[in-house]
This record gives sequence, C-alpha cells and structure tokens, in this order.
Amino acid sequence: MNYHQYHPIDVVNGPGTRCTLFVSGCEHQCRGCYNQATWSPSSGHPFTQQLEDRIIADLNDSRVQRRGLSLSGGDPLHPQNVAAILKLVERVKSECPDKDIWLWSGYLLGELTEAQQAIVDQVNVLVDGKFEQDLADPALDWRGSSNQIIHCFKLE
Ligand code: SF4
Repeated sequence: MNYHQYHPIDVVNGPGTRCTLFVSGCEHQCRGCYNQATWSPSSGHPFTQQLEDRIIADLNDSRVQRRGLSLSGGDPLHPQNVAAILKLVERVKSECPDKDIWLWSGYLLGELTEAQQAIVDQVNVLVDGKFEQDLADPALDWRGSSNQIIHCFKLE
C-alpha cells in the first residue's frame, strides 16, 4: 500500500483530535473529486512498518490525547489496500483499545467484498458512497455530498 499524507495531529477529519492517514488508490473517479492525485495506487509513498508503528505510538501518546484514527484517501478499501489496512485496524483495536476508527470509502456498505467487510467489522464509523457533485453541500459534517451515509457501528 502507498499513502499520500499522514497527519499525526488533525482536528478536521472526524471528531476530536485525531491521527489521519490518506492512502493512495481509488477507482471511483467521482466527478469533482478533490483528491485526484491519489487515484493511482502507485502514487505517493510506500506505507512502511515504521509508519505503522508510528501511528500506534501517536495514538497512545499521552502528551497529546487523540480520540482515534481517521482513514481516508484515495480509498482505504481499494483492493490493493485491504491487506495493509486490515493489519493496521487490527493493531489499533488490540494496542489502542480506547481509540475509535473512522473510515471513508466510495464503496457502499451493502456491496463490500469479504475482505473489505473484515475491515469494516473493526471500525467504529464508516462514511460510504461516492462523492456526487450535484449533491455536494459544504454544510454537511464529515461528508462531501448528501448521498454519503455515516454508519455508526456498535463494536463488541
Ligand atoms: S471516492 Fe473520494 S478520492 Fe475516490 S474519486 Fe471519489 S471523491 Fe475522489
């Protein structure tokens, strides 16, 4: 997996203070996409073990309390990203159990593959659906267009 940006302290992408990772790779080609540079899975930089370790350490850093991790892109559920994202969310659940995970994807909840669903089973919130320019509304919280749905899950 490649990524474009990592923000160790972010107050924009999701509630509270968070760590946010923007991954590479998106096949949805939404009209009006704000992040076309991320479409190619080979764009950006390799997501390394060091960065994965850093995200876990940042989430557990008591000097700057983070509420959780935000995963965006690009699309974290792109087929080329699912292995690395699954490993990351499993580590967050096991090593940072008090942190929440938000994930933004252009894929719809009801149409996920088994591998994509295994990731979504471990996130607290999925914001799903493509960006629809005709339904864009800057007043919406956490989503760009009104067709997108914020699914809040109750995890065990
Ligand atoms: S899902 Fe997001 S990153 Fe992908 S094309 Fe649509 S707006 Fe762009």
